[in-house]
Amino acid sequence: MGRKALVFGSFVADIMARAPHLPAPKETVMGHGFKIGPGGKGFNQAVAAHKAGADVKLVTKLGTDHFAEIAENTMEQLGMDRSGVFVTEECDTGCALILVGEDSGQNEIVVVPGACLTFSEPEVETVKRLTDEKGCDYVLMQLETNSGAVYDVAEHAALNGKRVILNPAPAAAVPEHVWKWIDIVTPNEVEAEYYTGIPVCSGESAEEAAQWFHRRGVRHVIITMGDRGAYLSVNGAGQMVPPFCVTAVDTTGAGDAFNGGLLAALSEGKDLTQAVVFASAAAALSVGRIGTAPSMPEREEILSLLK
Ligand code: ADP
Repeated sequence: MGRKALVFGSFVADIMARAPHLPAPKETVMGHGFKIGPGGKGFNQAVAAHKAGADVKLVTKLGTDHFAEIAENTMEQLGMDRSGVFVTEECDTGCALILVGEDSGQNEIVVVPGACLTFSEPEVETVKRLTDEKGCDYVLMQLETNSGAVYDVAEHAALNGKRVILNPAPAAAVPEHVWKWIDIVTPNEVEAEYYTGIPVCSGESAEEAAQWFHRRGVRHVIITMGDRGAYLSVNGAGQMVPPFCVTAVDTTGAGDAFNGGLLAALSEGKDLTQAVVFASAAAALSVGRIGTAPSMPEREEILSLLK
């Protein structure tokens, strides 16, 4: 069994509908396929890590509304540790409005982060204590919670010998001094370009972008590149890790499956290269199915793809 891992991040309820095309301003379109389900980068990545076999604690923040029940119920059904979930009466649970236009396959998304943007100073102190837990070696975070909280937790965890993984998504300005607390950064191509200014479309450009992060003190860089796989750079020595071949049905949440799989593999002691291969297998399996949290693969499926 692996060591413990902590994910500090968002929960939002995904409110989804499909329509023949995306509505123009003032246009009303008749849609179908309405669904409400669990989502948010923190939640999806924690579910992915849990299903991949990690002993993971999700730290997130919910309101007291119906959307909060979706998070609680899903975590309970999956048998996840709920002791890191904060609840507030002062704020609604986050939600994301997701429209898919079937003519183009494009989507429009509005995220209202709600409670998970409101981690207070005392709550951040509690999160820091949770990272101190014995046996917890890895802390995985994204940028959908209030950013100051993420930076504080990163600093505390790194100074206390934990390995901090930052999935810097959605792309948002990160203060220069924060990068040195990050052991592994995992942007996709779009985020990598946002931070570095380098359009990432090949192994060479990924290497250049990786150097940007290394110069700021990040030790390991993984740039996920969709169906091209992932670029892994360890202290400046880089390699492409090819993707697993699957028929893509829905690539939403591929990055979340990848980050969760990565966390699971690292916390059970795999080295970084093996962990990226494990993460790529988890992500490929999720791409073959519709949905985000529900499409995260079970450990056995990942292991049989790796055989
Ligand atoms: P994000 O969802 O954050 O944009 P990516 O699209 O880069 O992330 O995907 C993350 C990882 O998922 C990739 O590095 C790759 O391993 C895997 N992946 C994504 N799309 C495919 C695909 N079509 N086939 C196989 N693997 C894929």
